[in-house]
Amino acid sequence: MDDSPQHAPFSPSHAIPARIPPVKALPTHVAAMLDSIADGIMLLDREWRFTYVNQATERLLKRSLTDLGGRGIWECYPDLIGSAYYRAYHEAAASGAPRTCTAYHAPLACWLEARAFPDANGLTVIFRDVSRERQQSAQLEYHADHDYLTGLPNRRRCTQVLAHAVAQAGEAGVAAPLAGIGAQEPYAAGVVVLFVDLDRFKEVNDAFGHAVGDTLLCGVAERFRALLAPSAFVARVGGDEFVFILRDARPGQAERFAGTILAGVSQPFQVDGHTLLLGASVGIAQWPEAGDTADTLLNHADAAMYAAKAAGRFQFRVFHLDLAQGLRQRLQLRADLHAAMADDQLVLHFQPQWSLQDGRLAGAEALLRWQHPTRGLLPPASFLDVLLESPLEPAVGLWVMRAVCRQIAAWRRAGLPVPRISLNLSARQLVMPGLAGLLADLAREHEVPCGLLDVEVTENTLMTDLDSAAAALDELKRCGISASLDDFGSGYSSLAYLTRLPVATLKIDKSFVAVLGSAPEALAVIRGVIALARSLGMRTLAEGVETRDQQRLLAGEGCDAVQGYLLGRPMPAADFAAVMGASAVARGD
Ligand code: C2E
Ligand code: CA
Ligand code: CA
Repeated sequence: MDDSPQHAPFSPSHAIPARIPPVKALPTHVAAMLDSIADGIMLLDREWRFTYVNQATERLLKRSLTDLGGRGIWECYPDLIGSAYYRAYHEAAASGAPRTCTAYHAPLACWLEARAFPDANGLTVIFRDVSRERQQSAQLEYHADHDYLTGLPNRRRCTQVLAHAVAQAGEAGVAAPLAGIGAQEPYAAGVVVLFVDLDRFKEVNDAFGHAVGDTLLCGVAERFRALLAPSAFVARVGGDEFVFILRDARPGQAERFAGTILAGVSQPFQVDGHTLLLGASVGIAQWPEAGDTADTLLNHADAAMYAAKAAGRFQFRVFHLDLAQGLRQRLQLRADLHAAMADDQLVLHFQPQWSLQDGRLAGAEALLRWQHPTRGLLPPASFLDVLLESPLEPAVGLWVMRAVCRQIAAWRRAGLPVPRISLNLSARQLVMPGLAGLLADLAREHEVPCGLLDVEVTENTLMTDLDSAAAALDELKRCGISASLDDFGSGYSSLAYLTRLPVATLKIDKSFVAVLGSAPEALAVIRGVIALARSLGMRTLAEGVETRDQQRLLAGEGCDAVQGYLLGRPMPAADFAAVMGASAVARGD
């Protein structure tokens, strides 16, 4: 390439040069070679006239060599005058050095990338259509930043936007005190992160399939978009997780906005002929109290969201430091639980149940305990909710079933008169396919009659998926395993569904028993429950009996059995063996 500046200057572009017939004839083999190239190649002389174009040029520009040859480029393409190509070609011509330019070519509605090489004769321009590449890279850019399903920005974009907002707030925040805002409240307006997790979305997915779930998510995204003020931002950062970012939030605005989100989400959705109701839990983290980086703020908003879930869902929580402490403890607990399974730290305690008719031992409930290496014997309250949301849940559930069977077998080998033993099932365990078969197999393996097994399920467990629950209980019953309805009266307490469920025992919740002596209504409710259970052929067992008075009142109402601290706390297997032995002696068998 000749880039020495002493060539004759290019003529001014506005001058229309005379057409020069004939067009420069290239040796045939050179022309053939240039025609085989997919890029457009054109030669311009110093008067800006086409002296040659290859076939690719004819194709790309949709103009023939006969049409263009010998005419000036600016005459053929007046629209290009002043364009990026025009500037690039002129720069190449003036400097004698090559220039590259990519620009949108409106007449052909495409993006062209052109390289201009100046030489003694004029310019050689090599160009190609880069529309598809441009489109792909634009798409890539879009997809890197957006969620494919809802079209909302994704987690990556969310973090970027938040980092930017925090940086801006940081600059403004430093300036604020100087501007005379009181030292107590240096940040009158700030950045707020709201982490939103849909409640029970998984159930919709499980019940109606992923297509309905996806449509629902799009509906939620649509609603969230509609909630946005101009300076706000919303992203989908995970399956059913969304993040709102408010800039310049006034005190109290975050809480009000969380209320708006909850109200918005709780309006019914219509999807594929289904009316779907959703809830959400919202965690709020405010800059700078909850952190000064995007990551910390997101983590802390997430932690606050967890706290909202733990507090019963469908509400919001604002992050504070105690919450972080709680979060760390939960994570630690989760890790410890893994070790607990591996090291056999789980144990079962047994709490006796007594018949009120004849005072005999009627059964026992197996209750899970964790012999923690440093914290001692832990009750389920201190680890069950972490366990239930961890991947270990099925393994622990299976462990309980097996441990109960193994224990009954051991007692029977010792010649003890073992009554029916109840074990607690989680919601997920109950609807696990093949549960009845599994439990029956475990019993058979340990030579335990299925009639010695009872499963306790709570109302909440049943209501999650009534049909599957009813089917599971039917199957258990066919195997000879009975069921108890636990905590009756503490949940939805919808009596209507009771008729549909094969439940042998109704366990009256301890909250009723606790107020028996003091609240006359409690007695009336218990009387009603006992009558209802009788009419459905169920037996009643009252939990949490702590005083003689309570026991007397329950006996007076015709309650069948009791369980509580008064007559025996949950105890290790060896202690319960002693209870069985003694009760056998008392009965004289
Ligand atoms: P639950 O099924 O309602 O169990 C009865 C709870 O009441 C037990 O608490 C028991 O210790 C307590 N209790 C018994 N008598 C009295 C009394 O007279 N007064 C009072 N105030 N409380 C009494 P625990 O053992 O801490 O178990 C708590 C919950 O943990 C259980 O409630 C049950 O829902 C769950 N749980 C226990 N073991 C298992 C298990 O193996 N699997 C599953 N999924 N859940 C379990
Ligand atoms: Ca129970
Ligand atoms: Ca209970």
